[in-house]
Amino acid sequence: MFKNGQMRRLARYFGVGTIIMLCFMYASPVGAFVPEQSKHTTPAPAHAETEPDGDPDYQRALPTAEIIIDAGHGGIDGGAFQGDILEKDINLAVAKKLYLLLSSSGVRVVLNRNGDYALSDDNRWFSSRSRHKRDLSQRSQLSKEIQAGTVVSLHVNWGKNKSVRGPLVLHQNEGQSALLAYCIQDALNRQQNTRKLPKMGKPFYLLNVVKQPAVIVEMGFISNEEDRRMLTDPRYQLQTASAIASGIRNYILLR
Ligand SMILES: [Zn+2]
Repeated sequence: MFKNGQMRRLARYFGVGTIIMLCFMYASPVGAFVPEQSKHTTPAPAHAETEPDGDPDYQRALPTAEIIIDAGHGGIDGGAFQGDILEKDINLAVAKKLYLLLSSSGVRVVLNRNGDYALSDDNRWFSSRSRHKRDLSQRSQLSKEIQAGTVVSLHVNWGKNKSVRGPLVLHQNEGQSALLAYCIQDALNRQQNTRKLPKMGKPFYLLNVVKQPAVIVEMGFISNEEDRRMLTDPRYQLQTASAIASGIRNYILLR
């Protein structure tokens, strides 16, 4: 894409937002998306690359975090369901709210899908016949393309026991991921009046292949009536997104 020096110069002249947009344009094989208004931003003109290196304080002016929000499932893959309520729709609704909350508070953030489609549809580079594997590999590839990102993957749980409810955050076997999981779990416990502890999510592909800190946020149980009502109500979706956002901001302060 760009060399480091070029990125620094471009960032100085056009701001980090434009650079992220450029990253998306060049990262199109992995199907990343930017908000509607950014799609029309003009790419940086060639003269930007001839400018000298600038202010040594520039690095400190960069935002302190870069979060990739993974809206779990999508398209043909509905995820967990109860009746005609599908996990993929809840994940996307909360993901969009979380995106807006984080970006409006100055956190550099990207959302890996902003509509109802499967990421495997974008995957032309992995020849597996398993759509599920192509979908997951597409998600992990995105986290490689957007360097230094922390991945927050949004999901909804399902249980045979309909009385089980509450949020659960799963983390990697790694300190930063565990810290992020604790921060988000704490915020969700406060919001949903639960006392769960985050868990290590060993068998989860995403947590195993993503190199950066990553967590899977199970926002509640679609199989539980109380959770389901909360997860499908836009006001509670906003509260859930707000709790996750505050957990992420706490993590950024602590790490
Ligand atoms: Zn899921």
